[in-house]
Amino acid sequence: MEEVYRHACEVIPGGVSSPVRAFGSVGGTPVFLSAARGPHVVDINGREYVDLVCSWGPALLGHAHPEVVAAVQEAATRGLSFGAPTTAEVELADLIRGRIPFAEKVRFVSTGTEATMTAIRVARGATGRDVIVKFAGCYHGHSDALLAAAGSGVATAGLPGSAGVTQAAARDTIVVEYNDAEALKAVFAERGSEIACVITEAAPANMGVVPPDPGFNATIRRLTLEHGALMILDEVLTGFRVGPAGWWGNEASLGEAPVTPDLVTYGKVVGGGLPLAALAGPSELMDLLAPVGPVYQAGTLSGNPLATAAGIATLRLAHNAVYAHVDRASRQVQDALAAALDEVGLPHRIQTAGNLFSCFFGEEAATHGVRNYDQAKAADGFRYAPFFHAMLDAGVALPPSVFEAWFLSAAHDDAALNRIAEALPAAARAAASA
Ligand code: PMP
Repeated sequence: MEEVYRHACEVIPGGVSSPVRAFGSVGGTPVFLSAARGPHVVDINGREYVDLVCSWGPALLGHAHPEVVAAVQEAATRGLSFGAPTTAEVELADLIRGRIPFAEKVRFVSTGTEATMTAIRVARGATGRDVIVKFAGCYHGHSDALLAAAGSGVATAGLPGSAGVTQAAARDTIVVEYNDAEALKAVFAERGSEIACVITEAAPANMGVVPPDPGFNATIRRLTLEHGALMILDEVLTGFRVGPAGWWGNEASLGEAPVTPDLVTYGKVVGGGLPLAALAGPSELMDLLAPVGPVYQAGTLSGNPLATAAGIATLRLAHNAVYAHVDRASRQVQDALAAALDEVGLPHRIQTAGNLFSCFFGEEAATHGVRNYDQAKAADGFRYAPFFHAMLDAGVALPPSVFEAWFLSAAHDDAALNRIAEALPAAARAAASA
C-alpha cells in the first residue's frame, strides 16, 4: 500500500482526488480500494472491510446493487453521453417531485458543489442582493462563496477557509454560529435588506452530526420570509438517505411541521453512486435559470444517461423497508458503540440526525452535547485516530475523520453488523488510552 501511495503522491496532489481521503487527520497510509459490493469494500491487496463510509452517502442500498448496476450497464450500451435532453432526466425529475412536492422543477448537475453554487446564484438573481448567510461548520461544497468556515475536509484540515478565495467572495458571505437563533436575528436586523439567502444543511453532518435544535430551521424560514431573502436547504447528504423525503420529510416525525425552503439541493443518493446532483424548487424560482430566465448555468455532462439511470434505479428501489432497515442497523451500531465506550469508561456523546450519527469524545460533549462547530472542535477529537485505526485493523472502514458521519446501508446484514460489534471493544480501549 505504501508503495502505491508514494507513486500516487508523485502524480496526484496528496495522492488523492478529494482531501479527506488522504487520512490527514487520522494519520497512516490511505487504503486504496479496488472493489465494493454490498456492505463491503475491498482493497488492492484483496482485503475486505465492512464499510461505514458508503462512498460518503450514495450507497444507500449497499455497494453495486445488482439492479442498479444492470440499469447502468443497459444505459451504457445505448451510449455514454449525448449532450442532449433525455426522457430519463424527466423520469428522475418526476421521481424527485413525487417525494418532494415543492420541488416542482429540477435542474440536474454533476456535483453537490454545483447544486449549491447554482442555488446561490438563483437566490442572488431572484433578489438582486449579493450577501449570503451560512453557518460555521456547515459544508456546501467548494465554491468560493461557500468556503468560509466550512466543515468536512476544511474542518479536518483546520483551514480558516481556503487560499485562492477572493476577498470579495469572503466579504459577501456572513458566517453565523449554528443553532444560534439570536445571532441570526441580529444579522438580519443589521443587514436584512442586503441578504439574498440563508443556506443551511438540513441537519448538519459535516462537523460531526449536529442536528438542528427544535425550531431552528423554522426560525431560518421565518426570518428569511420577513426580510425577503430565500432559504436554501442543502440536502445533498440527508436527501433520500435519512428518509424517503430526506430531512424535510423527517421533521414531521419529530413533531415539527416540515420547514419548506425556497430551494433545495440534492446529491449523493440521488445519483446512486454516479456523479449526479440537483437543485429544485417552485417553478417561479427555477424558471429563472437559463434558457428560460437570466441566471446562467450549464454542464456538458449534466443529466448524464448513466448517472440518471443509476439515480432512477436507486430511488425506485429505495422504498420504506430500505429506510427501516438502515434506521435499525444504525441504532444497532450506535448501541454497540455506546456499550463499548461505557465499558472502558470513556465519556462520549453519540449524536444523530435520522440514521446518520457520529460520536464526540470527552466529558464536556458527553455532559452538554455538541450544538455548534466550536463545540465540535473542542471535543476530544484526538481519541478518534487510534479508534479509527483499531477498527481498520479489525476490518471495519470508518470515515477517516471525526467530523464525518457514519453511514449504514440496506446491505448491512447481521454478519456485517456482528463484525462491527466485535471490533468495537478493542477500538474503545485504544481511544480510552489515547
Ligand atoms: N453539501 C453537503 C451537505 C455535502 O455534504 C456535500 C459533500 N459532502 C456537498 C454539499 C458537496 O457535494 P460534492 O462533494 O458532490 O460537490
